[in-house]
Amino acid sequence: MSAIEKFQNQVGRGEVNWKPGSDSGLEKLGEDFYNAINFGFGNVGIVITNEGVVVIDSTISRTGGKAIVDEITKMTDQPIKYLIYTHGHGDHVGGASVFKENGATVISHRNVIERFNRYTKLRDHHVAINSMQFKRNIRIKNEYIYPDIVYDFEYTFELGGKTFRLLHGKGETDDATVVYIPEDRICYSGDFIVWSFPNIGNPNKVLRYEREWYEMLDRILKLDPKAIAPGHGRSLLGNEEVQACLSDTSAVLKYLHEECVMHINQGSSLDKMLHEISIPETLVNSKYLKQTYGCLEFAIKGIYRRYTGWYDGNPTNLSPSPSKEVNRAILELIGNQDQIIEHARRFETEGNPQLALHLIDLILIENPNNKEIHAFKGEILEKMSTASSNLFFRNFYSVSAKHEKELANNS
Ligand SMILES: [Zn+2]
Repeated sequence: MSAIEKFQNQVGRGEVNWKPGSDSGLEKLGEDFYNAINFGFGNVGIVITNEGVVVIDSTISRTGGKAIVDEITKMTDQPIKYLIYTHGHGDHVGGASVFKENGATVISHRNVIERFNRYTKLRDHHVAINSMQFKRNIRIKNEYIYPDIVYDFEYTFELGGKTFRLLHGKGETDDATVVYIPEDRICYSGDFIVWSFPNIGNPNKVLRYEREWYEMLDRILKLDPKAIAPGHGRSLLGNEEVQACLSDTSAVLKYLHEECVMHINQGSSLDKMLHEISIPETLVNSKYLKQTYGCLEFAIKGIYRRYTGWYDGNPTNLSPSPSKEVNRAILELIGNQDQIIEHARRFETEGNPQLALHLIDLILIENPNNKEIHAFKGEILEKMSTASSNLFFRNFYSVSAKHEKELANNS
């Protein structure tokens, strides 16, 4: 199995490596340029110069950070001078304290500060949503290592005859940095590239930036890098691969952005957009756009949410009755819960578990203690989880199935 397939499978199953694995190693992008993969969740860039080492990102944990420091020590006696954050997500900053203890000066975009403040303020919420997303008990125990140096648009420094250009752009986050070393045409892209369809419209997270994302990919393309270390997964080596990945990813984002904007201007509902917008045929089979992490449906929802408000255009929904009251009115009309269950079972066996869920919820909203129905819902969600190859669908359904089964077994 190739490294790409392995990564995609991992992400698809939601079993991302949290600790250094036996398959961890350093990929060489050029003389003194490395991409450390599988030292934990999130790649780490290492650049060795004769005046010190520059590290880009730190994996998710101190364990990963220590393993990286060990690797650096094996290669050079030079001190670690700088740690650059490509953005403030936990899988890129979690091991930072190890590098800080080793004397590194931390550099990032200014918005990383506000991100860390927000994560601290909403800690319990982030523990809950990330535990769901990654199907594991997330603990956020480390204090964040705030940057020593921040910048707004672009920041450049030199070390050991190498120029480090830090370019700010927005994409998966609003605090992102791409690192480019022009002398060697090497790029560390962070999560602008992750070997998956871009994660626009994450169900539980704040807005992402599809337009700025493709603008940054086009900017990298113009720099003509010969190798790129992405935020996750193996490096892109050689012009052909670099250009194919950047142009496919940029093209799909640009297409979706423009389609969504056109629909919004025409007054389309989100429902209509979800049914009418698809990925162009030329891109649908791109190996860089597998929908194992981000996916089309979430992207459309994310872009729609970014440019519109919460009102869906139907005045019924401007100030709706409580859902329990609406539900009760419908239930009274149907008058027969057994019939609802029977229909739900039929939908499920006919291969439409989603419709079955809608019917089941009619009963659960009215009677949240109905154990039999919780068990039925759990069964359906389990099957839906197994049937999907996308991390979000698999994990959200699986975690919820477990919860439904617990409700069914509660005495
Ligand atoms: Zn990441």
